[in-house]
Amino acid sequence: MSDHTAPILVTGGAGYIGSHTVRLLAGQGRRVVVLDNLVFGHEKAIVDDGVELVVGDVGDQDLVRGLFAKHRFGAVVHFAAFAYVGESVTDPLKYYQNNTAEPVKLLQVMQEFGCKVFVFSSTCATYGVPDKLPITESNVQNPINPYGRSKLMVEWILADCDHAWGLRSACLRYFNASGCSPDGLIGEDHNPETHLIPRVMMAVTGEIDHIEVFGTDYNTADGTCIRDYIHVEDLADAHARALDHLSAGGASVRCNLGTGVGVSVKEIISAVEEVTGKQVPVKYGPRREGDPDSLVADPSLAKELLGWVASRKDVRDMVRSAWAWMSAPGKGRFPANERKS
Ligand code: UDP
Repeated sequence: MSDHTAPILVTGGAGYIGSHTVRLLAGQGRRVVVLDNLVFGHEKAIVDDGVELVVGDVGDQDLVRGLFAKHRFGAVVHFAAFAYVGESVTDPLKYYQNNTAEPVKLLQVMQEFGCKVFVFSSTCATYGVPDKLPITESNVQNPINPYGRSKLMVEWILADCDHAWGLRSACLRYFNASGCSPDGLIGEDHNPETHLIPRVMMAVTGEIDHIEVFGTDYNTADGTCIRDYIHVEDLADAHARALDHLSAGGASVRCNLGTGVGVSVKEIISAVEEVTGKQVPVKYGPRREGDPDSLVADPSLAKELLGWVASRKDVRDMVRSAWAWMSAPGKGRFPANERKS
């Protein structure tokens, strides 16, 4: 059993999904320390006064040991990772180093300190091209790029650590994270931004000339790719539930986090037009390499194991909250980080 009241270490807690989760956990009264190297994270994404931000790398064992010695964490929630699929293809070692080797160093320190609860950001990219739809956890995991493989390897490592020294983990396989805190205080700020919903909005605000639709000849009703867009606050909620489950002594879990609803690229563009009341400049281009036709979750296992269901299933809710952030004074951007290490 783990200590329910012990502080939680959140790596990558200044990133997109991490910061929404930190905000939720802190709001629930949990003690949270964020470790983020601010390469992609934003200092200003940590909005709760009680949350300590430590700037550094997950693989810096001296730093992490010092944090464990000071705080005696009861659990680790690990978000810190690189997530550009295309870059993972051209620079695989960068991904295997950061997404696979660095967490191993973190796990070594956890083992030293007897910390046995780990919540892991996994991804539907571990499935590759799905052998059946909707995707259940029994689908074959056959990733088609180094990013997916770098994450799947960690899933395997976690299973081995469970067997060897009783590490209990939750591998949460996200589908397409989207939306923001509806108050527009924190949100998605990637540089470069490659994701569909923020890019469609950038086409609305004039930050880019148009949105290019990658492929119109897919085997789907309107010819564009179908994805399962899950609200980032629902993802955050799943992490809190996974922590509760594991901290209460629950066994390791691996589950999909999606709505179970498939939405096409064209439907996203229509939703943005509806929410913003503005027309989106669109150009139709060729397929992007490595995009499967449809990726839609069967999220029933997460309900069964964690009592989790997506509270928002209408993609307009994701779009509305994303627009709150994109149309806020900073227009979807955090101020530059003041400190780097
Ligand atoms: N997409 C698009 N134009 C863009 C960005 C994305 O047509 O500028 C499509 C992409 O091909 C995919 C869907 O939108 O079918 C979601 O892509 P995103 O990069 O947001 O997430 P992914 O599914 O790759 O994780």
